[in-house]
Amino acid sequence: MENKASFIGVNRHRLGIDGHGVVTLCAFTGCPLRCRYCLNDQCHDEKASVLRLTPAELLDRVMVDNLYFLATDGGITFGGGEPLLNSCFIEEFCKICDPNWNITLETSLNVPLEHLERVFPYVNKYFIDIKDMNRDIYEDYTRLSQDNLLTNLEWLMSQPDVADKVTVRLPHIPDCNTQADVDHSRHVLKGMGVKNFDEFNYLIRNKKE
Ligand code: SF4
Repeated sequence: MENKASFIGVNRHRLGIDGHGVVTLCAFTGCPLRCRYCLNDQCHDEKASVLRLTPAELLDRVMVDNLYFLATDGGITFGGGEPLLNSCFIEEFCKICDPNWNITLETSLNVPLEHLERVFPYVNKYFIDIKDMNRDIYEDYTRLSQDNLLTNLEWLMSQPDVADKVTVRLPHIPDCNTQADVDHSRHVLKGMGVKNFDEFNYLIRNKKE
């Protein structure tokens, strides 16, 4: 069966936003979470999908920036939605793209472990959208169990020489967590071996009750 995936968009020339160097952001549709303030709400709307591509078709589309990728140590960032729901697509793409491209993943890690294991050999950098490490806050905010996230994070941080590849995003979420909660998350994550953090404030765009 043809390995096609749906994308919200494929956006070129994202400099210093979604990874190192010149980056093309490939944003998949679909996400298992239902965050109260979803930053990419269109990823839940199948009708909003404008692109359906095979890995070879995506490669054709992004190849135009090959020289920029090589000159700046840039490459492809897979985001969404949740890119790991498309782990077979990412694996196939990485097998045919230039091995010198940097492959970055923007993920919530809330998928079965097999998806992470499948793409792990190809991914150079992870931005992990952790929400909050307090289970009650996390599950209230995302409407999903934290179990997959914890399993995947423990597995990832147990891999050799991975700490420099991982940045965890620690959001201040209005009406959901406090500075003390964010500090607690950082403390727990440091205990798991995480070294790099990106602490920031959520801007509310879509509030669901
Ligand atoms: S993980 Fe991201 S895309 Fe998914 S529901 Fe939350 S904010 Fe939206």
